[in-house]
Amino acid sequence: MGTSASYNVGRTGYYQAALASADRLAAARAAVIARQQYLMREFLDGAARLEAAERAMANGDVQVASRIFMTVARARPVTAANQQARQRLDELADEGRRKLEQVGTRLTQAAQGLGTDQRLGINAPLPATWQQAVTAAFAEYEQVCEQYDGVPKLRGELRSHVAQQRQRPEFAAVLSEGQAAALMEVAQQHVRDDHACCAYWVYKEAAALVPAPSARQAALEVSRIEADPQLMAAARACRELQQCHQLYKRAESLAQAWPNRAVELLTEVLHRAPPESEVYRAADRRVREIAPAAADQESRRKHP
Ligand SMILES: [Zn+2]
Repeated sequence: MGTSASYNVGRTGYYQAALASADRLAAARAAVIARQQYLMREFLDGAARLEAAERAMANGDVQVASRIFMTVARARPVTAANQQARQRLDELADEGRRKLEQVGTRLTQAAQGLGTDQRLGINAPLPATWQQAVTAAFAEYEQVCEQYDGVPKLRGELRSHVAQQRQRPEFAAVLSEGQAAALMEVAQQHVRDDHACCAYWVYKEAAALVPAPSARQAALEVSRIEADPQLMAAARACRELQQCHQLYKRAESLAQAWPNRAVELLTEVLHRAPPESEVYRAADRRVREIAPAAADQESRRKHP
């Protein structure tokens, strides 16, 4: 018995790509704010700001333009510029809604001719063209959300519409498939290493992503393992051991600054890990090494 080498989804290509895309998004947002702030410093009165916003619009920079329109619309005292800015924001809201509808129409078109089974990847893999259409549509949804984020009337409306779309099973099946497949890969690596015990917990995580096709496959593996009491006992022992490894690691990180807390954690390992396991032997040794420092800390706490 033992735990398999710690493969995790964090090392998969899927996860790295998600991380990189989040980085790009954060950088793009910071750039928008910087451009807006620059223009606000450069142009001080309402009319000049409106002109700067129109120039940004002409360059396709809706994000910066809408943010400037917003500050002009809210500026006091009220001038002709306020009215104009408000009108421009209304126009932008209509434009954003139209774009959202266009994406919805494309999704409806892509679904034409596909049965529910096909859209959910039941009995066969998801059709590649469907996957591409859904992925592209949601990338576009994100883009519309980003682009019109500065239009106050629209912001909540866009986000909640896209969130609702995401929940629809035919889209969720495509959108969660990447993560589910990455987890399946990790689980199968555990199986190849002869650690069905470790695989069980990863299958379970993947199964939570139903209706993704790989998640349905994972759910089958989960029920297969759960029907086997011996495998389940191994899986539970494995999880216990994994948690002991984590406790041990935390104890090590605390050993210098908080020896008495480290001793507590190591004692927990000694209660939970099987005596023949490596982590038990390591904890047993460390607890004796750290004990004097812990006792010292304890007495200083009681008699400062
Ligand atoms: Zn295991």
